[in-house]
Amino acid sequence: MMRIGLIGGMSWESTSSYYALLNQLTSDKLGAWHQPKVLIDSLDFHEIAALQALDDWDATGELLVDSARRLERAGATVLAITANTMHMNYDQVNNSVSVPVIDIRDAIVGQLKERGATSLSLLGTRYVMEKDFFAARLRAKGVQVVVPEGEAIEDLHRIIFNELTRGIILESSRERFIDIADECRQRGGDVVGLCCTEFGMLINAEDAPWPSINSTTAHVRALLSFEDA
Ligand code: GLU
Repeated sequence: MMRIGLIGGMSWESTSSYYALLNQLTSDKLGAWHQPKVLIDSLDFHEIAALQALDDWDATGELLVDSARRLERAGATVLAITANTMHMNYDQVNNSVSVPVIDIRDAIVGQLKERGATSLSLLGTRYVMEKDFFAARLRAKGVQVVVPEGEAIEDLHRIIFNELTRGIILESSRERFIDIADECRQRGGDVVGLCCTEFGMLINAEDAPWPSINSTTAHVRALLSFEDA
């Protein structure tokens, strides 16, 4: 029996989208009241965000490993780290449990390839855009990655931390996001990667003015298709 374990709370806004989407896609496919079996271990984002800002990725790794082990002990048979940024600790988490951990980066590449595309504008937190753990994995799978530059990096990071993770959605930030995505597309990132699990609050991938991939949707689809396999 499959039971999905979510390492969540990064932030709770995005974890609630994971939970809603897991249930919506399952009942769309199987009919009303069909729901996947889900365990959520919701962490304290205040603690995680402070360690991220200190660049203390060993400490974030310990918190995530503890969470993964709790979920495995509770009966989860497949896990997900429900934030792009915290895939910084993917290898540690993956090595600490015996159940599979579905990687959001691979889920994004999967969706990109399904569309026959090969280049992605990578928009996320400063950590996702500036540290190489994210883009390197995409490049290793044949994706050309375009990352915002200069002020755009600070603006996206601020939108995530000062607004979206606190439940604040501003039209001015939506416009800024669109300008940044346009600029990255001009530099060759054909598909816009919403590589922060809160970006779906700001941009609806279906109505977006360019082809885009919502990392939360990609990750949820990968979890559900793992369940089907
Ligand atoms: N949920 C976010 C992400 O997908 C940002 C929060 C965090 O820094 O963990 O990266």
